[in-house]
Amino acid sequence: MHLFSDVLMDSTTATAELGWTIYPSLGWEEVSGYDENMSTIRTYQVCNVFNGNQNNWVRTKYIQRRGAQRIHVEMKFSVRDCSSIPNVTGSCKETFNLYYFETDKDVATKVYPAWMENPWIKVDTIAADESFSQVDLGGRVMKINTEVRSFGPVSRKGFYLAFQDYGACMSLIAVKVFYRKCPRVIRNGAIFEETLSGAESTSLVSARGSCVPNGEEVDVPIKLYCNGDGEWLVPIGRCVCKAGYESVDNGTVCRACLSGSFKASQGDQQCLQCPINSRTTSEGATNCVCRSGYYRADSDPLQMPCTTVPSAPQRVISSVNETSLRLEWDPPKESGGREDVVYNIICKSCGSGRGACTRCGDNVQFFPRQLGLTDPRVHISDLLAHTQYTFEIQAVNGVSDQSPYSPQFTAVNITTNQAAPSAVSIMHQASRTVDSITLSWSQPDQPNGVILDYELQYYEKNMAESNSTLLRSQTNTAVIRGLKPETIYIFQVRARTVAGFGRLSGKMYFQTMTEEEYSSSLQEKLPLIIGSAAAGVVFLIAVVVLIIVCNRRGSDRTESEYTDKLQHYTSGHSDRGRKFGDVSPGTKIYIDPFTYEDPNEAVREFAKEIDVTCVKIEQVIGAGEFGEVCSGNLRLPGKREILVAIKTLKSGYTDKQRRDFLSEASIMGQFDHPNIIHLEGVVTKSTPVMIITEFMENGSLDSFLRQNDGQFTVIQLVGMLRGIASGMKYLCDMNYVHRDLAARNILVNSNLVCKVSDFGLSRFLEDDTSDPTYTSALGGKIPIRWTAPEAIQYRKFTSSSDVWSYGIVMWEVMSYGERPYWDMSNQDVINAIEQDYRLPPPMDCPNTLHQLMLDCWQKDRNNRPKFNQIVNTLDKMIRNPGSLKATTPLSSGVHLSLLDRSTPDFSSFSTVDEWLDAIKMGQYKENFANEDLTTFEAVSQMTMDDILKVGVTLAGHQKKILNSVQMMRAQMNQIQSVEV
Ligand code: AMP
Repeated sequence: MHLFSDVLMDSTTATAELGWTIYPSLGWEEVSGYDENMSTIRTYQVCNVFNGNQNNWVRTKYIQRRGAQRIHVEMKFSVRDCSSIPNVTGSCKETFNLYYFETDKDVATKVYPAWMENPWIKVDTIAADESFSQVDLGGRVMKINTEVRSFGPVSRKGFYLAFQDYGACMSLIAVKVFYRKCPRVIRNGAIFEETLSGAESTSLVSARGSCVPNGEEVDVPIKLYCNGDGEWLVPIGRCVCKAGYESVDNGTVCRACLSGSFKASQGDQQCLQCPINSRTTSEGATNCVCRSGYYRADSDPLQMPCTTVPSAPQRVISSVNETSLRLEWDPPKESGGREDVVYNIICKSCGSGRGACTRCGDNVQFFPRQLGLTDPRVHISDLLAHTQYTFEIQAVNGVSDQSPYSPQFTAVNITTNQAAPSAVSIMHQASRTVDSITLSWSQPDQPNGVILDYELQYYEKNMAESNSTLLRSQTNTAVIRGLKPETIYIFQVRARTVAGFGRLSGKMYFQTMTEEEYSSSLQEKLPLIIGSAAAGVVFLIAVVVLIIVCNRRGSDRTESEYTDKLQHYTSGHSDRGRKFGDVSPGTKIYIDPFTYEDPNEAVREFAKEIDVTCVKIEQVIGAGEFGEVCSGNLRLPGKREILVAIKTLKSGYTDKQRRDFLSEASIMGQFDHPNIIHLEGVVTKSTPVMIITEFMENGSLDSFLRQNDGQFTVIQLVGMLRGIASGMKYLCDMNYVHRDLAARNILVNSNLVCKVSDFGLSRFLEDDTSDPTYTSALGGKIPIRWTAPEAIQYRKFTSSSDVWSYGIVMWEVMSYGERPYWDMSNQDVINAIEQDYRLPPPMDCPNTLHQLMLDCWQKDRNNRPKFNQIVNTLDKMIRNPGSLKATTPLSSGVHLSLLDRSTPDFSSFSTVDEWLDAIKMGQYKENFANEDLTTFEAVSQMTMDDILKVGVTLAGHQKKILNSVQMMRAQMNQIQSVEV
């Protein structure tokens, strides 16, 4: 084995005399000779075997230690065999001693250190392996011994060696002094610098390695141990080449991947060729970038070729069946190199040739789904009859969303056929007697044309279906007469259009009254019939009624399987009933009280009758549509007294007014939600007729905000909006459309909780109409500023139109009760909205809130958020108030919104005075002039402080001027940006 060492002294390399110190002078002698290769060398000889008492020393010159801790001495020598020397006495020896002496300086003299053990330190007595017999040193053959000894630890700068002969005949041929070291190596990807061996032959000296350039540690620490022989042992830890570099030259170099190849991660693996459609931009690449037009999906491995978007689907076949459609197509010619092609269907309805197409609404059904179709076919249903549609079939794959272009598609145009109406989904019982039942039902979801009439089919539950009787009705109500008392009948209804009959509804079960039920229900109606009879008679009847009411309540509340409530059973389910109003478990839906033949029945159904003696009126707090609104107290038997609001019906009312007044209670009584005003009950058995609700200390929201202008934090305002949205979500879930959502119809209690109120239907009803059906009943009074355009234009009131109104309420709240669209006329508002103008953000209104308002004011009602989304959005804002920080000053050039219509463009005036006149603030002309505000440049810089300084003290005027100034700034910015 090749051992690494550094030589400190080598007698064989001496070119002149060695000149070592000898003691005594007749001992050792320096002689020139030859080594085994017959090269000339300087040796020391001694051979005083015939004289006794020999003690001959020879001392080397000073040898520098040079950092070594253990010194090795290799000695070549020959010793004459004593027995081969004739006549030799017993003093002949065959060994000699090796000593060393440490010192920091070369201080030795002829007498120092003394020629004896201690001060000298003995290393060993050296004996020859072989001695030689006949040979002298005159150039004849000789046997040479080589012995190595070592000593340590040494710590001084240097040392001397001494060889002591005590009677041998020998020759010291060569002396080499060295120390061992482990050389610089690269092992396990790390460089270990040269390390000297330790002081003992068994020492292990640890050395830290460092990774070769572009290598990275994987197992640390990276260590090797250098042993006493200068060998590296026990490697620990290792380095590997980092990403973009590969190991070459037996792991001693990490070389950058050549261009066109890459290595994605650190490790022992080699660089890989770039996959198809990718390339590197430099050497040492860790990945290959895709060629333009090619992409890699997040989940694609780096060694996978880059891929591209698919081409359009091919050969679309469509088959229309009434209002359904089946589309099939062939996969795209080019898949883009991927296997994950799926299809999306975009549905556009093109009306009946009215120009532009619009996206289809949510009601169109796609089977198995609309987006992400894996198979090249789809079934589409619930389209409108007789309507043109365009379907775009897009092919997309895993990299489509990385392409800057929209997916390629193939479009088909189809026109749906005439189709029969869909089935009626729900039927109500409005009233009943012993021999008749009055039913009403909703229009089919898809009439697919004008409904000509309805066909009702019914039979006794205990009879065969073949015995059924048919009945036609022009409206969606019918009175079925000639029935047996106390009998369950099964009803089904279907609508008819020019396309024929629709499907029959599910079977619904209703029961006629028993004689007793009938007579007690008649009794109940008596006081209403008699009206203003003499007091004594009223009293008598009242007593009777009271008794009957108690009985009736007791017996009615125990529910038989077919109670006298409106019942609804749908086919496909078992005959076991669900209580009316339950369309699916857990969803209660609102019942329009006008579907009852006798709306008083609805009041009894939904509102609790309160004994007037429990009510104490305190004071008048407002004026309602039908009479005064008072505050007061209600103490129900066994309950705590509570504050209530009492709406009264003024005397001299007509029957219709009474019905309309109480309809609000029938509606309110169906709701139970913390953000909906709570109905305590009604008083109908005495005059005045009253509706009693919980008391809301702070009154209506609009006036409350105006009284507290600027007093709330944004979070408080958002909290109020959240409450309103939550109440509206509840109403929407109940299928109730409010139609008059506005801050004036929100009430606020002492805890700032906002509750939706005002459920009076009457204001929407045309005075002369008695038809209770939904759309045709709607007439005049529409709150234009709060109402969605489709509701204004064609009376399409939906929860989505309520969302529009909600957006206006948001604006009212954020502007502390400002009138929406200020003093614009209703017609101007309608025109502005039609031209896509929308209300600008109120002062200090966070951007996120104004954005939500704009979402509520989307022209297409399908694009407006749903109330549950609004609640979620507001909740997020409340949880993360940071999102409410950013407000957009008008001057930063937000899309010029409505303001620019009501605030005239400053550039159409030549002086500030003219402009003040135009904004109806002419009275401040002088004030402006006094402050040198005579140029638009100066006016546009005005702040609220400046407006105060000018002397405008009225809050309304301050606001008006500030708005107009902000608008001026916005208009200036727009002019500038146009010029740019
Ligand atoms: P309305 O007929 O609901 O518009 O009521 C007229 C006015 O009476 C409202 O604007 C309120 O100021 C007040 N009001 C109505 N209901 C309540 C109530 N529950 N609590 C307090 N004030 C009410």
